[in-house]
This record gives sequence, structure tokens and C-alpha cells, in this order.
Amino acid sequence: MSNNTAKKIIQGIFKEAKKIDKIVTFMDVCGTHEDTINKGGIRPILPKNIKIVAGPGCPVCITPVEDIVKMMEIAKKKDIIITTFGDMYRIPTPMGSFADFKASGHDVRIVYSIYDAYKIAQKTKKTVVHFSPGFETTTAPTAGILNDVWENDMENFKIYSVHRLTPPAVEFLIKAGTVFDGLITPGHVSAIIGVRGWAYITKRYGVPQVISGFEPEDVLLSIYMLLKMLNEGRVEIENEYKRVVKYEGNVPAQKSIEKFFEIKDAKWRALGVIPSSGLFLRKKYENLDIRSDIDISIPEMPDLERGCRCGEVLRGLILPDECPLFGRLCTPQTPIGPCMVSYEGTCQIFYKYGSLF
Ligand code: SF4
Repeated sequence: MSNNTAKKIIQGIFKEAKKIDKIVTFMDVCGTHEDTINKGGIRPILPKNIKIVAGPGCPVCITPVEDIVKMMEIAKKKDIIITTFGDMYRIPTPMGSFADFKASGHDVRIVYSIYDAYKIAQKTKKTVVHFSPGFETTTAPTAGILNDVWENDMENFKIYSVHRLTPPAVEFLIKAGTVFDGLITPGHVSAIIGVRGWAYITKRYGVPQVISGFEPEDVLLSIYMLLKMLNEGRVEIENEYKRVVKYEGNVPAQKSIEKFFEIKDAKWRALGVIPSSGLFLRKKYENLDIRSDIDISIPEMPDLERGCRCGEVLRGLILPDECPLFGRLCTPQTPIGPCMVSYEGTCQIFYKYGSLF
């Protein structure tokens, strides 16, 4: 962080915060923002009346246990290779993780991107199924690869989509009663959906937003811009990340996502069903969807282990160190809930940068 720039922004934050005689809460909904906030030691340097909470910014954390377990059950019936990301590989479920599944002899491989999974499929006759989580930013490359698969009539590559949309989750939290005075809006997601993808949240629910980049200065500036809006009585959406985010977003990426996916209600782990928040493959592309080949039912299972407060963390109701298990029984080596596994999980991030508190 450039000392001078940061100093000036921090002075501005203190000046604006002084004008407000109540606790002001801002929410971030992005694991990368939470990482920047922790790595940059931003929370401890803020005025006492400014509170930053984290929302459901971790796509791996909110992937339903049922889908992970279903993926494992499907893989038992077919001669298939499962690919997924490293953090998803270790996410705990009542039936174990993908890592446990691999230890019991099944072919599960960690990939860095869906492109790696696609390359594996090109070299094997087995069916490769990519277990595909992620918000809008990750869905765009998924749609790009699906386009290649479709154009090339490739028969041995399929996905299990657990892609989710972020604005409906923010809307869900507001309706469910999570109170915050402004949103530090995720820059990566906004690069795809644009300012216009978030505008309705401000218009409908009166929540000021600043679309923010990922350097500590970006986040500090976004906090300053939110405070300024509050003090001036403005309820708007502003774009601090203009160097990347356009008003209309990435229109080709939006079209590509829309071509392959339709929006339906979907479950979020520890949050429940959120209307119009899930991306599922369209009927036309059912050949690319492992669930159209095999759909199995599994018994209901709990989202979280007893005592895990990941649901409250994801709702922005508590910070991880308010969970009695944090850092004691629950650590990245012995995770009890999904928020301690993913590098975008708030508990994992708090643990990683614990020395800064
Ligand atoms: Fe759950 Fe562990 Fe986070 Fe507590 S610290 S909320 S047990 S993931």
C-alpha cells in the first residue's frame, strides 16, 4: 500500500465517521475482499463506529452437501473421473469429502480451472465430470469451455453445475433481516454483470453500494465513498473499480452464460433455498449435464456439524472469532465447517491472518 495514498484515505474515513454518531455496518460479499481486508489489517485501523461484516462470498462454502454427496454417488455408478477445485476437494459433508472418496479408490482429480478438466477429457475415453462451483466470474469460463465441447461434439465431458448468482443472495439476506448500511460490492463479479447487475439492490432496498477493487487502497476508498454517501444522504451505486468494471459489464460473457444456463431457485448450504439464484444447464444442452444422465435421490442430511456457526458467518451476523470452535477444535487442518476449508471462506481467512488481530 502506498503510505501517502492510504494515509489520506484513512484520514478521510475518520473525518466522515466522526459525523456519524452510531455504529455503521458495511458488508462485503467476496472472499477476495475479505482476504484484502484481513491481509491489509484494515478492520483494526478503522474508526470504532465502522464495522465490516462478511456475507456469503465463498462459492465453495455455500455448495449444498447434497450436491457433493450426489456427485459421489453418481461417480460410484459410472466409470467416470471427477474433477474439481482444490478447496472443494476437502469440503466436509456427513458422508466425507471428495478427498475421502478418492481414498476409497475413486478417481477424483484436482484442477485449477475447468480448462484442465477439459484437457483430461481429451486424453481419455472415460467420462470426465467437472463438479463446477462458482459465482458469475467462474461461470463465464465454464460457459466458454462448454461451447467448445458442444461445437466439437465431445461426448465424454460433462459438468455438475453448482453455479450460483450473487445479487439474489444479497437480496435474500436483506429480506431475511440482516441489517447493513452499505455494500462493498465484488469487483470480479461486477466485471461480468456490470454496475447494472447490482443497481436493483440499491433501487429496491435503499442500500448504497460501491463496486470495489481488491487492493487495500481500493477497499479503503470504497469505505470512504460509502461513508460520504451516508453523510450526504445519497443512496446510490458508485463504481470505485472503473479500471475494470463497466456499467453494462462483459456482454459477450453474459450472452455465453445465458446461452447454456437458465436461472432457477437453488439451495445455498447453511442458508436455504434462495429464489432465482442457481444456474442450471438448459434442456437443449442436457448432453453436457451429468444429472440428465443419472439423477439419484439421497436422504436428507444436516448442512453443518453441531456447533458450527458457518450459517451465521455467511449471513454476516457474526465474525468467525465469535464461534467457540474457531481456532480451537476448528482449524484449516481440522475443519469442522466449510468456511474453514476454502481459501475464500471467512473462517479460513481469519485463521490465516490471525496474527494481525
Ligand atoms: Fe464453523 Fe469452524 Fe467457522 Fe466455527 S470456525 S463457524 S465451526 S467453520
